[in-house]
Amino acid sequence: MGADRRPVVGVLALQGAFAAHERALSRCGATTRHVRLPVDLDGLDALVLPGGESSTMSKLLVSSGLFDELKGRLHDGLPVFGTCAGMILLAADILDGRPDQHSFGVLDIAVRRNAYGRQNESFETELDVDGLDRPFHAVFIRAPRVESSGPAVEVLARHDRAPVVVRQGTAVVASFHPELTDDTRLHQLFLHHAGF
Ligand code: GLN
Repeated sequence: MGADRRPVVGVLALQGAFAAHERALSRCGATTRHVRLPVDLDGLDALVLPGGESSTMSKLLVSSGLFDELKGRLHDGLPVFGTCAGMILLAADILDGRPDQHSFGVLDIAVRRNAYGRQNESFETELDVDGLDRPFHAVFIRAPRVESSGPAVEVLARHDRAPVVVRQGTAVVASFHPELTDDTRLHQLFLHHAGF
């Protein structure tokens, strides 16, 4: 990391795969903090939105009072890394979402939930990712597919032509689960884009 202090990275801990993200971030030299309430956002340098169930997380974000507060911070530029359900929460448009499901609209992408089909609901593959020197082993679990993206969105990796790692400024999203392997290079890449 380029900075001379450990960044404080929040991990949304309402539901889903947050513990594995904390382990990966700690291994990258970050200090981590559970985010469950608006007060937990104070002083954060960056945030991770984990995988899980995006419609459940959307509900819990609203009932905890986090949704509006977090939306404001994200649109003010809080760096964010969203994986799987976290990608859905950050998208401008959700296809096949629940009618009451909200998203933060931080990246100009449209994502379709559970789009990889029954047969392929979960699969693993090796991905070439821009900025990484060798392939990344990616675990997809009922993953969202990016169906369209705007001009400000940079595609860092594709699978079957669809973007699976994309970046817009300091927001990075992956449709798979980088926290489920021992490889921390995507977390490091995120921290690098976040300025650390
Ligand atoms: N299918 C889930 C959703 O719609 C995402 C799956 C995941 O995060 N592994 O939220």
